[in-house]
Amino acid sequence: MATKIMIRIAVQKSGRLSDKSLQLLKDCGIKFDNGGRKLSTQAKNFPMEILFLRDDDIPQYVANGVADLGILGLNEVEEKDQEVDVIKQLGFAGCRLSLAVQKDVDYPGLEWFNGKKVASSYTTIVKKFFAEKGINATTEEIGGSVEIAPGIGLAEGICDIVSTGSTLIMNGLKEVETVMYSEAVLISNPNLSIEKKGILDKLTFRIDAVQNAQKSKYILLNAPNAKIEEISALLPGMKSPTVLPLAEEGWSSLHSVIEENDFWNVIDQLKDAGAQGILVSPIEKLIA
Ligand code: ATP
Ligand code: MG
Repeated sequence: MATKIMIRIAVQKSGRLSDKSLQLLKDCGIKFDNGGRKLSTQAKNFPMEILFLRDDDIPQYVANGVADLGILGLNEVEEKDQEVDVIKQLGFAGCRLSLAVQKDVDYPGLEWFNGKKVASSYTTIVKKFFAEKGINATTEEIGGSVEIAPGIGLAEGICDIVSTGSTLIMNGLKEVETVMYSEAVLISNPNLSIEKKGILDKLTFRIDAVQNAQKSKYILLNAPNAKIEEISALLPGMKSPTVLPLAEEGWSSLHSVIEENDFWNVIDQLKDAGAQGILVSPIEKLIA
């Protein structure tokens, strides 16, 4: 009996990325049962097995082929420096990896770090950054609570994940350099079989449709016929807008797709051009 070929994707077992990673798969129409404390689960309607792992371990599992794909932060991909392909940015878990020092330090620029020690959970990234910039600093690898290191005399500076910066401030630190920007990414083993590559293509097609839909809105509005051209020009839709006559003589209904940001930029111009009954609604999937 031929065994059905499945793609194995590793996602974070529990942490910041877990819910959004699973939600992305669900938005792609993939159904699975993730109740309980399972280590893996099989999708019901897509040739996929989902493995729940620590995000730190995902690059290694994907590189050695235990998993074919993985979802994790780009920072973790760079830190582990394994042979994996980054296939796609996923648009969530955006953060930056920054250098910070105690707030009373008179910081002149990166050269301050010469001869200093930096504590971080991301020492591979930090070493590479200093090497590229020609700075002679040492690193101290620690697993967590990095922000207390300067206060207890373990290191003069730190390199850690920052999103709002409030953790740094609470610990008497200030951000002085951005080392990298990160977000969740889809990674792949570089040597997938043709069959698995086919499944990956199906998955990325669906992710594209979900991502396009998230940034676009469906817009309907009523316009006097004489203004249709002017209003259409304000709506940079997929192609030209659909125009349907209304029961009321001299009026039409315009339908189009617009990026949400564009919508806020043109709303006043639409009203000035005579548009009425403007309705904007979310799109679930969008195949361009
Ligand atoms: P552990 O491995 O001990 O569970 P972790 O730091 O690896 O901890 P999370 O805190 O769940 O795990 O973070 C996972 C990923 O989420 C990080 O590698 C990073 O890409 C991203 N991330 C972390 N902190 C933030 C934040 N404050 N804002 C946005 N994204 C973040
Ligand atoms: Mg981790």
